[in-house]
Amino acid sequence: MGCCRCEHWWVKWAEPQPVVFADPSDGQEYCVFHAPEGEKRKALGSEERYTVEEFNDLVFARIDAVIERVQAGETDARCDLSRTVFPGAVDFERYGKDNPLPAIEFLGATFSGAALFGGATFSGAAWFSGATFSGAARFGGATFSGDAWFRGATFSGAAWFSEATFRGAAVFRWATFSGAAVFRWATFSGNAVFDSATFSGVAGFNRATFSGVASFERTTFSYKADFRWAGTEKDGRVVLRDMHAASLEQLVFTRAELEAPLFRFVNCDWPRRLGLEVYGKGDAAGLLECEHLYRAMRKRADDEHDRRMVSVWHDREKLMALLRLRGFGPVRAVRQLWRGARERKDGPQSETWEANKPLLALAALLPLVPLRALFSLSFWYWATCGFGERMGRAGLVLALLAVLPFLAFGPAGAALLPKFQAAANATAAPGSPGGFFAATNATAAMQFIPFTKDIGGEGWLKVAQGLWHVLVIVQATLFALAVRNRFRR
Ligand SMILES: [Zn+2]
Repeated sequence: MGCCRCEHWWVKWAEPQPVVFADPSDGQEYCVFHAPEGEKRKALGSEERYTVEEFNDLVFARIDAVIERVQAGETDARCDLSRTVFPGAVDFERYGKDNPLPAIEFLGATFSGAALFGGATFSGAAWFSGATFSGAARFGGATFSGDAWFRGATFSGAAWFSEATFRGAAVFRWATFSGAAVFRWATFSGNAVFDSATFSGVAGFNRATFSGVASFERTTFSYKADFRWAGTEKDGRVVLRDMHAASLEQLVFTRAELEAPLFRFVNCDWPRRLGLEVYGKGDAAGLLECEHLYRAMRKRADDEHDRRMVSVWHDREKLMALLRLRGFGPVRAVRQLWRGARERKDGPQSETWEANKPLLALAALLPLVPLRALFSLSFWYWATCGFGERMGRAGLVLALLAVLPFLAFGPAGAALLPKFQAAANATAAPGSPGGFFAATNATAAMQFIPFTKDIGGEGWLKVAQGLWHVLVIVQATLFALAVRNRFRR
């Protein structure tokens, strides 16, 4: 019997290694490469173990032997390190462009410490499928001359691929990134596959260049996925297919990337807002950028005859304009209040906060709405009918307008009303001091306005009633507009 990994019936090594460790629990035998972490013994039965450095030297010797074969003219030589268990950090920096790694297999390998491939050059294909990176995986500035296979790889720490060059395909299908995944400034010359991959931390694709098709099908983004300033060369594009709204909401891109066009969206379930807004600073410049993006998204939806999304993006675009009007201060203040509350989540105030959250938010918001916004037409357009898109809100406001007069004529109103009323059939007294504000004059003035002379009441009450009529008519129109928008799709 030899090493159970070297001589595995399915993935076996061409040259099985001598056994150094037998697992007492199941009798399985392992060579030094495949022995679990902490069992890197120097010989079977020996208590002497290789240090991390000594073990790494064994790995380097194995790689160097293949490099020699390549230099001797062997074209399909590849180094097999499949299912190797690295007990600690390992640094492959020495394999730069002057001494590149041969075609190499790390299939199912376990990197217990950091895996340092920064600046390394892979002269052939690199197989990391099924590998587990327990520490940081550093591939910054690495060059993959052949295909790079990371299918189903697990990155428990941060994965750095910034400034990496993928000359062949880059396959990250089913890969799991628990920490940050940084592909900033990376160059994808071939196709890139991120289908069904899971990004739990930030996914940074800023300034990456795609020359082939980068596929993101059913990819899960749980946090910010930044594609700003990413670009394409030749026919390169990023295809997002069958994406869920929760993941798409994390996608940060601007109008520039949308119109490049960098993306192709296929069968995507759109959220109501986009990552640029979610992760934006909320300042005037950021809001303007969001407004531009939503306008471009609306145009895109319009071209695709997607009535529903046209209205969603239209809604969002107008809201951004409104928020911009409100200015920087209040938005940031509320945001900070909210963030502070979330940080205090585990603190003693948390229960009080949880119970009063909506109330506190409202209390914080009210004094912060500047007068400028209150007088803006878009604020009222938003407040009364959600830019003509919220049927429920428009109906509610209409109902309120109808109900309020009932309250005005209740006991509270009864005490106030006589102050605004004039004696019935009193005649106007123009020119008298303070005549403009006289209730009698108001009654007379109403005679000149169409439809209002038939309104009951006298004096300023009559004027108020007339205005109220107008309000109800306008709101009824807005309601009708919202109903029409609701059922047009
Ligand atoms: Zn083995």
